[in-house]
Amino acid sequence: MFDVIIVGCGPTGAMLAAELRLHDVRVLVLDKETEPLSFVRIVSLHMRSLELMAMRGLLDRILKHGRQRPVGGIFAAINKPAPHGLDSAHAYLLGIPQPVIVQLLEEHAIALGAQVRRGIPVASFEQDDEGVTVELADGERLRSRYLVGCDGARSIVRKMLGVGFPGEPSRTETLMGEMEVGVSQEEIAEVSGVDRRFWLRPAGVGIYSVVIPAAGVSDRAEPPTIEDFQQQLRTIAGTDFGVHSPRWLSRFGDATRLADRYRVGRVLLAGDAAHIHPPAGGQGLNLGVQDAVNLGWKLAAQVRGWAPETLLDTYHAERHPVAAAVLDNTRAQMELSSTEPGAQALRRLLTELMDFNEVNRYLIEKITAMDIRYDFGVGSDLLGRRLRDLDVRQGRLYDLLHRGRGLLLDSTERLTVSGWSDRVDYLADSLAALDVTAVLMRPDGHVAWIGDDQQDLDDHLGRWFGQRR
Ligand SMILES: Cc1cc2nc3c(=O)[nH]c(=O)nc-3n(C[C@H](O)[C@H](O)[C@H](O)COP(=O)(O)OP(=O)(O)OC[C@H]3O[C@@H](n4cnc5c(N)ncnc54)[C@H](O)[C@@H]3O)c2cc1C
Repeated sequence: MFDVIIVGCGPTGAMLAAELRLHDVRVLVLDKETEPLSFVRIVSLHMRSLELMAMRGLLDRILKHGRQRPVGGIFAAINKPAPHGLDSAHAYLLGIPQPVIVQLLEEHAIALGAQVRRGIPVASFEQDDEGVTVELADGERLRSRYLVGCDGARSIVRKMLGVGFPGEPSRTETLMGEMEVGVSQEEIAEVSGVDRRFWLRPAGVGIYSVVIPAAGVSDRAEPPTIEDFQQQLRTIAGTDFGVHSPRWLSRFGDATRLADRYRVGRVLLAGDAAHIHPPAGGQGLNLGVQDAVNLGWKLAAQVRGWAPETLLDTYHAERHPVAAAVLDNTRAQMELSSTEPGAQALRRLLTELMDFNEVNRYLIEKITAMDIRYDFGVGSDLLGRRLRDLDVRQGRLYDLLHRGRGLLLDSTERLTVSGWSDRVDYLADSLAALDVTAVLMRPDGHVAWIGDDQQDLDDHLGRWFGQRR
């Protein structure tokens, strides 16, 4: 019997497993693949995800494997420098191969005590009042109190729950892969330099990364073949460059869909299982990792028995609108990438507007999830937002959040978290960088309360961290 079974050990599932282990939840992660998918897709980790990695003590490890670049030019690939005034200690992008980030997160989860079993797909599950029975493809049955589907765009968990996944189907599809070529570098440069519909870029000795539109929209369950690449290269470039011996081949579409519900009883959805959209702006992995950090402590609280009654449902209430906003900004970016004259005119206009720093910054903050403000009720603008990494009396604020607990920062030095100190830490600090007296932070780094009154604080501790003990 596990507390939580997670289906899927991609970035979302691995991050969630680690978050749950911070609270001693017995976690099993199941993945159908024997090892992380080998697609060497370089993904961008955005500012908020980098902050979350710093909050969990993972950032230094991750930085070693990636390449930092300025956080500019990511909205609709409109080429602009990074805006001024970004309010983060990590105001950059980190390019990192997706398999590497998955491996690092999986290692982190295992080091914290998560069990990971790879190589057998989950075939079905059933939930009852006490828990969930999961059946693997080889017939083995496992039992847990909760189940989370982090099993990607084609999620079997979402389908078995019967949760609606409304949105738009793929209109176009793109082939992507790495392979050897049969012609010289000069010949490639001559042809691919002039046509922006496809590209071939060196990806190692004698190996090229190839990205090209597919002939149409297919059933994407099967990967494309080298013949698909050869045919499309001939059609679009006039030559297939003698491509052969692929390392890996993949395809992606531009479908945009959002699950109606993130929770049905004891079963929840996170990451691509809950939302899909085109890769414009590189947001999908970031969104999934951020879902995991929002859900982890709430599900842990439910399992450990201290969750207020409505806490677990705040996961859908907070994260569903965030995903809806990401879907919308990718829709906008896709329109701006169209070659239609109207869309091109709009793109030119937006390109001009982005010369205003405020516009540029607004769009970058949107894509990098820095603009998120959860609705915690009426209050200061900081309420519901994430708090940046501050210098505090004991060093850096984010270093105090590694254990995934709540934190009260108090400049009055007379407030207390007594009664909640098994779930919430306390730090007396001048809070000179903020125009507030005291701040209560949730384990995901969002501001849950601002004030100076002990009774009001106790009410909010009860709202987020359950009953006084
Ligand atoms: C070309 C491209 C570029 C991208 N660039 C970026 C980027 O720059 N930044 C960014 O943030 N995002 C990017 N993305 C999106 C990102 O790759 C996805 O959003 C991310 O992989 C989602 O993570 P996930 O863990 O939710 O799902 P997945 O990564 O899909 O993981 C799901 C896991 O579930 C497992 N699984 C599935 N079914 C079962 C089953 N029945 N039983 C057991 N296991 C199962 C799978 O094996 C897999 O390991 C890009 C996507 C594409 C296509």
